[in-house]
Amino acid sequence: MTYDPDNIFARILRGEIPCHKVYEDETTLAFMDVMPQVDGHTLVIPKAPSRNLLDADPAVLGPLMANVQKIARAARQAFGAEGVLVKQFNEPAAGQTVFHLHIHVLPRKTGEDIRPHAGKMADHGLLAQHAGMIRAALES
Ligand code: AMP
Repeated sequence: MTYDPDNIFARILRGEIPCHKVYEDETTLAFMDVMPQVDGHTLVIPKAPSRNLLDADPAVLGPLMANVQKIARAARQAFGAEGVLVKQFNEPAAGQTVFHLHIHVLPRKTGEDIRPHAGKMADHGLLAQHAGMIRAALES
């Protein structure tokens, strides 16, 4: 298992590919998933390179999960959700498709359908609007 420095999230971190940014600090970047399973589906990634949870430096995980909590609370507020699904995949056998550690944050409402994983590309105007809603909740 090796880390490919040209994976798509590494390229987002280097600013080579755009994203709909929700939050950034010295350790972490959060942005909208372009194929959201629900409105508000956000990805939280460490800036430090690792393929997934299995090879990550444990020192990275504390700040990362503190930021996952921050984004989960803001996404719940922004989307009026009752709950939040947090999930993370390791290696293709477990469903991982992008090989830079990332945590999925999905605001959830009872009975609301969940769309397929890495399914349909969302409208960029809508993603920008959703990112703005979560940013506003983070600032409130
Ligand atoms: P996984 O590796 O299975 O945990 O999922 C990778 C996730 O990244 C999927 O939910 C994709 O929709 C999402 N994704 C892929 N490319 C991009 C991108 N350029 N910007 C934002 N999200 C992406």
